[in-house]
Amino acid sequence: MSQRKPGAPTPPRIPLISVVVPCYNEEEVIAQTHRRISKVMASLEAAEHEIVFVDDGSRDRTWDILTSVARADARVRLVRLTRNFGQQPGIMAGLSEARGDAVVTIDADLQDPPELIPAMVERWAQGWPVVSGRRSERPGDSRFKAGTAYAFYRVLEFLADHPVAVDTGDFRLLDRAVVETLTRLPGDTGFIRGLVGWAGYDETSVEYAREPRSAGRSKYTLRKMVALSHRGLMTCSAAPARLPVAVGVGWLGATALASVLRRRPMPAAAWTFGCEAVLLGVLGEYLLVVHHEARGRPAYVVGARVSQRAVKPVAVLANPEGQVS
Ligand code: UDP
Ligand code: MG
Repeated sequence: MSQRKPGAPTPPRIPLISVVVPCYNEEEVIAQTHRRISKVMASLEAAEHEIVFVDDGSRDRTWDILTSVARADARVRLVRLTRNFGQQPGIMAGLSEARGDAVVTIDADLQDPPELIPAMVERWAQGWPVVSGRRSERPGDSRFKAGTAYAFYRVLEFLADHPVAVDTGDFRLLDRAVVETLTRLPGDTGFIRGLVGWAGYDETSVEYAREPRSAGRSKYTLRKMVALSHRGLMTCSAAPARLPVAVGVGWLGATALASVLRRRPMPAAAWTFGCEAVLLGVLGEYLLVVHHEARGRPAYVVGARVSQRAVKPVAVLANPEGQVS
């Protein structure tokens, strides 16, 4: 049996890249999605891969198709949720199942081109722990969808308490360290792109034009879209809870000024409204404290440690030199 000589350099380990695909009623497209992702991943010479499909409670033939795909391809692993929990919990389930050194999350409908994954992996190998797909154009989305998404990302960026990458969805590569940080968070982690921004790892992006769906119809109803935006705003920003104080103080200031200028006492109703708004805001502040305590996130995330002269990046596995770009 050949044994390595003591002190011989460790042979480089081939990294494993996981691809996580959340699916909800995607029977029309899922087999094609598997083919396209497999083809791209097989072309990556310096990496192994696995594909984790998460069936988010589909009621069509998605699960049957996936089980036959998994029988034919040993690199495919499947997870089935008990019911439809939504895309974000589906992705979290996939992140928990994935074993890769890096994990790519991608929609099942081929709106995010799998052909971009090698460019993401290359950035990761250069030392980037987060590589997001950034939609430079959205020719495949309706004007309503593209317009509301554009506005939402700008409002979110303005109001968020931490950085949130604009124009990125859930097509993203995450280093193992980032995946561990996210999957260890307690509680209901509803808005992954916000969490990635909160976690704070160095992030870069690759641009792409978002194509139309390959087949089937959007599973994001207007209701689900509003729920996701609401969740994003509420989990990334304290502004909604602070709004009453701003309204109350602004109102009291403006009505007081108007009364002085008009040399009349301030109407009782104006006082009442302003004071009520401020008091609501004070309650909002207490709720924020409770909210932060209850969600139990750590106060910080360590990105690197230095001890004497050794620099050990926590985030980046792909880069043996330890240069975090
Ligand atoms: N999806 C999911 N659960 C849901 C809704 C959607 O897993 O409740 C998946 C869906 O199968 C797709 C991705 O999330 O892989 C994005 O959904 P879709 O393409 O319908 O959204 P859109 O691109 O229209 O925003
Ligand atoms: Mg889509």
